[in-house]
Amino acid sequence: MDTKRIKRFTYIINTVILLLVIGLAGFFVLCKAPLLIWFSIPTLFVYIIGYILIAKDRLDIYVRIVYFWITIYFCLCTICLGYKIGMHLYCMSMIPIIFYTEYMADKMGKARVNAFVVSGFIAIGYLISTGYSAFLGPIYTVDNTIAGTFWIFNSVIVLAFLVFYSRLMLSLIGDYENKLKETALIDRLTGLYNRHYMIGRLESAAKEAPYFIAMLDIDDFKKINDRYGHNAGDYVLVNVARIMKENCRNSKISRWGGEEFLILTPGDIAGGASLIEQLRSAVEKEDFSFGEDHIKVTITAGLADYTGDVSVDKWVNTADENLYKGKKSGKNKVVC
Ligand code: GH3
Ligand code: MG
Ligand code: MG
Repeated sequence: MDTKRIKRFTYIINTVILLLVIGLAGFFVLCKAPLLIWFSIPTLFVYIIGYILIAKDRLDIYVRIVYFWITIYFCLCTICLGYKIGMHLYCMSMIPIIFYTEYMADKMGKARVNAFVVSGFIAIGYLISTGYSAFLGPIYTVDNTIAGTFWIFNSVIVLAFLVFYSRLMLSLIGDYENKLKETALIDRLTGLYNRHYMIGRLESAAKEAPYFIAMLDIDDFKKINDRYGHNAGDYVLVNVARIMKENCRNSKISRWGGEEFLILTPGDIAGGASLIEQLRSAVEKEDFSFGEDHIKVTITAGLADYTGDVSVDKWVNTADENLYKGKKSGKNKVVC
């Protein structure tokens, strides 16, 4: 999650708690519990100050105050009205949030909340308040029907929260995993697959239907860099990649290294030769204009189909040898 999303999420949480505190104040009136009615006033202020802290990007202070205050609040409710109303259950739901907050703060390089210490504080508050109410009885007596209804209400909220929260965490982990996979397999400059991905893909293609590969190399790329600069070189790489994507829609295209690309396409080499020739011609015709410069770009390609019973290395070597032949015999051509 980025900072903006975290802030938005915290605003929502703060508003939900604020509304809950207002609703609960009404419930305390119903229960005739003056101590809790009075305690609701500073609690409301804490959450109003919460908005200011979120707006000022002081989420670190916000979570500390909120954890502290909310624990006191739930414990006081339990001491005053008894554990039968189920307010202590909220303490349990706070623990996974605390660990997530610690993780996020660590990730974002912010001062982290020590989740074990805070959880310990909550656990002590929980034990004292429920213990008090179990052994000494609550300060105010609440009608059994009201207490039971409220216990169900609180249980449903806490359980629903835990289900929702666990689901949210899993989807965040899933998103993060996908992002990691993408960065591990995609070349950042061109957006093509990288060599690592392609090696795996070649290994599975060797076991499937007929495939051919084309090893492509930009001609005299060093001269392009030397004459127009490295940024112009990058611009050429990005646009050659784009032309490849446009022309080889059924292929897997990878940046094999530097200014070399490997394309894997289903089909035989006869059809492959015309596809790659079309690509070579498209690159030759393209106007690579970078600032004031119009850069002439050509590519040479070596093709190889999979003959069976050879290693992927040998397959790639055959395409490489054909590429070498093309370079030796004048460049800007496709060799099978
Ligand atoms: P040939 O026609 O024989 O392929 O000659 P060439 O100049 O294209 O090949 P050579 O291997 O001599 O030079 C490749 C150059 O590609 C050298 C290297 O600096 C440049 N290069 C490799 N990766 C990048 C990159 O990501 N960006 C830029 N701008 N240049 C790169
Ligand atoms: Mg080259
Ligand atoms: Mg090269």
